[in-house]
Amino acid sequence: MIDLVTKTAVKSSVRDHQVWLDSVNSILQVKPRPKIVTVESLPVLRLDQQRSSYDTTNYLLPPNKTPFIYTLVLDLDETLVHYDYVLKQFRVRPFCREFLRRMSLCYELVVFTAAHEEYANFILDQLDPDKTMLSHRLYRQHITYVGNVCIKDLHKLGRPMNRTVIVDNLAENFSRQPRNGIEIGTWKFNPQDR
Ligand SMILES: [Mg+2]
Repeated sequence: MIDLVTKTAVKSSVRDHQVWLDSVNSILQVKPRPKIVTVESLPVLRLDQQRSSYDTTNYLLPPNKTPFIYTLVLDLDETLVHYDYVLKQFRVRPFCREFLRRMSLCYELVVFTAAHEEYANFILDQLDPDKTMLSHRLYRQHITYVGNVCIKDLHKLGRPMNRTVIVDNLAENFSRQPRNGIEIGTWKFNPQDR
């Protein structure tokens, strides 16, 4: 996943961002750590108590404080984690936390999920307990619906499209900006995933 994201960014207009690229390359030379697969319990959710954190009449994200940085948008379910509704547990994709840590060093990281805010926050608070890796979180209320299709419209983020990449296990989610998307394999249980 790390290689895919980086190659996509490199193909974009990066001529003016050599310093940024140098930092990415140096990070990628770090060898991966042993895989981490954890299983954690999810409490009963009260989905009727959804809250919106953003003013959706304008851009979904506040202005970026770091000029020229790339924005990496990540899906949650079946991309970073899988929630088992029978066991009421979620599993974390192998290397997920390492991936987030390394990507957060060179990207503005945004999780954009079609899930409910309370559910997503419960998981993200455990993936990023110190809130040092994820810059922003977007939830179901920020999704654009076209019929029954859920769209994550990157234009609504308020970021330059030539510096924005989305990784999602469903290509239809980024069908409005397909050139900005990387469709990653759906993950549920495979501990050998890389
Ligand atoms: Mg997904």
